[in-house]
Amino acid sequence: MSVRTRFAPSPTGLLHLGNVRAAAFNWLFTRSLGGVFILRIEDTDVERNVEGGEKAILEDLHWLGLDWDEGPGVSGSHGPYRQSERSALYASEVTRLVDSGGAYPCFCPEGAADREGVSAEEVTHQYSGFCRGLDSAERNARLVAGEPHAIRFSVPRDQSEVAIQDEVFGSISFPTNDIDDFIICRTDGRVTYNFGVVVDDIGMGITHVIRGVGHLSNTPKQVLLFDAMGADRPVFAHLPTVLGPDGRKLAKREGATSVQEMKAQGYPPGAVLNYVSLLGWSHPEEKEILSNEELVASMSLDRVGRSDCQLDPDKFRWVSAQHLAQESLEGLVDHVAPFIDRDRFRSVGENLSAVIDTLRTRLSTYTDINDHLGLLFPEDEVHAGALRKKVGADPEVTTTLTAVRDRLQALERWEEETLGAAIREAGILAGVKGADLFHPLRRVLIGSEKGPDLGKILASLGMEEGIRRIDQALS
Ligand code: GLU
Repeated sequence: MSVRTRFAPSPTGLLHLGNVRAAAFNWLFTRSLGGVFILRIEDTDVERNVEGGEKAILEDLHWLGLDWDEGPGVSGSHGPYRQSERSALYASEVTRLVDSGGAYPCFCPEGAADREGVSAEEVTHQYSGFCRGLDSAERNARLVAGEPHAIRFSVPRDQSEVAIQDEVFGSISFPTNDIDDFIICRTDGRVTYNFGVVVDDIGMGITHVIRGVGHLSNTPKQVLLFDAMGADRPVFAHLPTVLGPDGRKLAKREGATSVQEMKAQGYPPGAVLNYVSLLGWSHPEEKEILSNEELVASMSLDRVGRSDCQLDPDKFRWVSAQHLAQESLEGLVDHVAPFIDRDRFRSVGENLSAVIDTLRTRLSTYTDINDHLGLLFPEDEVHAGALRKKVGADPEVTTTLTAVRDRLQALERWEEETLGAAIREAGILAGVKGADLFHPLRRVLIGSEKGPDLGKILASLGMEEGIRRIDQALS
């Protein structure tokens, strides 16, 4: 049997770390087994949908490299893939369930217990089951009279508990008495979350449901529906809770870092995927820095743990830094360039590749470049110029700087290696070496004795600017 999984976001806000993790685990697990990954948009809660929500989700998934085999924009043979386009299917499944005796019309007013998003703990009352007991004559009469009604699921009362087997949380039983005859179709004809999900999971042939543990409390209702509809239950795997950096529960829709923010902050998509994969899962050899391919090769549900995991921004930055370190210089230049604040750093230009090469070890994200460009390109040029002149005022330094400038000007190729060699040769000519040679030169070039290799600095500045700074010190 081939694996079929789904990621089922609601377009009610931006994708954040919590739901990206669900997407990532589904995708990695599916790709590791050569299965089919489906994107389903759960957009039936019209009041909560946000404008452009679906488009943003698709863009974020594209950016993360989480491609889907069936879903919006791809199609497939189990569609449509938006719940809003599946109403007719739901209606016929409701009718089928009523006809088979698995559900019944209920003429009582709908209560709080039946709304999506109300957790079991918040439910203060259970439905009494009143309309379940109506005799068929009365029921039919009220239906014929067109009395408004919802449809409730007949929870089987002959079984004392609903047992589920979860790949992560093991076997769990829920007392059937705690589950009231929940509404599957509202008075206005819209189906409820639990019903829609099950109809879709059956219709789309989903074999594995991988999602946050927040949905564990919905699972008993869902398995009862699978059973009542005569379908095989999928394998369930609930992922542990993600806590915010403050140790508090990550609010489902607020306070969490969105994919768009991570993108704007210059995290590479591979680092985001790597980081979220470590939220509840670990590599068999405890490796922490993993490419997409390595993640696919090593992902398995049996290494998903139950303990809560806490977001750690420092660790996220560290993971990102490792990914940046593995990038080729060419790739890094392409990725960093769009993040450079051109208003602050106007003079960064032709030597971008050398600039990035000089600063790359300091970067954890692409935007970090703006925290370090000032080292090579001071924003306060007047102050930097004054400092250069002060350094050059020392007669011994003047001799060194003059020798360096002469060697540099004679260079045919302005490159890191030739620049380094030219400085050493100038040192020999001027009779200085080590700190006596390098410190004043670095102070003239970047205003500090310590810093990157001089060959790298000069390559980053380019010939004109490098010579200009030395000349300024000598003036
Ligand atoms: N639409 C649900 C959510 O965004 C997912 C439902 C599911 O995975 O079963 O939380």
